[in-house]
Amino acid sequence: MGLSSTIGNFFCQIRLLLFIALCLMIVGWANFYMRDSPHYAPKYSSNFWKCPSPERKVEDKTIPSTVKQITNVESEVKVCPVLSPYLKGNIPLSFDPSLNLEKVKNKYPKVNNGRYQPEGCKAQQRVAILIPHRNREKHLLYLLDNLHPFLQRQQIDYGIYVIHQAGDGKFNRAKLLNVGYLEALKEEPWDCFILHDVDLVPENDFNTYLCDTEPKHLVVGRNVTGYKLWYKGYFGGVTAMSKNQFAKVNGYSNNYWGWGGEDDDLRARVSYGKMTVVRPPPEIARYTMVFHTRDSGNEVNHNRMKLLKDVSKVWKTDGLNSCIYKLLSVEHEPLYINITVDLGRPQY
Ligand code: BGC
Repeated sequence: MGLSSTIGNFFCQIRLLLFIALCLMIVGWANFYMRDSPHYAPKYSSNFWKCPSPERKVEDKTIPSTVKQITNVESEVKVCPVLSPYLKGNIPLSFDPSLNLEKVKNKYPKVNNGRYQPEGCKAQQRVAILIPHRNREKHLLYLLDNLHPFLQRQQIDYGIYVIHQAGDGKFNRAKLLNVGYLEALKEEPWDCFILHDVDLVPENDFNTYLCDTEPKHLVVGRNVTGYKLWYKGYFGGVTAMSKNQFAKVNGYSNNYWGWGGEDDDLRARVSYGKMTVVRPPPEIARYTMVFHTRDSGNEVNHNRMKLLKDVSKVWKTDGLNSCIYKLLSVEHEPLYINITVDLGRPQY
């Protein structure tokens, strides 16, 4: 074998190696760009909804076994996809000042007793939306008017609970949400709870109201904060927790009277419960906040920093397992379930 043929063979092998390396690079590149992101299968794009949406398997150990059954068992009724084919992306919101309950009711005739189930498929999870409320009737109307079509496009099996604090004592958002959780579970074995402020309206229906394998904070941006996360540990506004995740942290503290701190406390409980927080991408986790001034009875809670220092000591004994209240009524209105409760007074 001559020198030229040895050199020829050598270059031929180099070319072969280069070709294999190129193929491996292409496979690696395709895998990197096409695989699912850890929490959100397909990255949102304005025309994503035109593509068939892959079904994501729920693997959360904290999500009730019933959900796993729904997602795993091949039943006659097909399971709805995680991303419904009816999603539109950014949706024009409506804040019609002439709105009244009758008008909203007539717009959504498929909602009965505050409940709705998708047609043609079995929903991934049963979701209870809990809205703490007092003296914000207009905000509630705006939220209902925007939330019902939003949830129906997402093919969610849902119930909306408005938990109304009776009397004019200090407002306690956290305790109202604990009551909502406990009372809603007396009616239905809900899988997932959306803890929802009355003044926040979601702007993009890819922000799915389903629970994840970790507690999910749905508000990355609000119009009033330039659509930026308010601060790294912000966990307020709208949050999704599975039944088991919420039970694991013993729900909220019952001791935050007035504005602020209860959501930071819940965030701390999530850490003590050895969970993390996930968030949807900022381009979809966007909300419009309906303007309001500070309500009387909901003044800033100056005690909140002191309470926050003690979370590690009290979270196991202050929460769902110590939530004492007087249930005044449970009324099934067409568009929501209205729970009226007397929360009592602060203990300090
Ligand atoms: C309060 C939170 C509130 C946040 C954003 C914090 O100082 O403690 O309760 O959600 O500000 O407004």
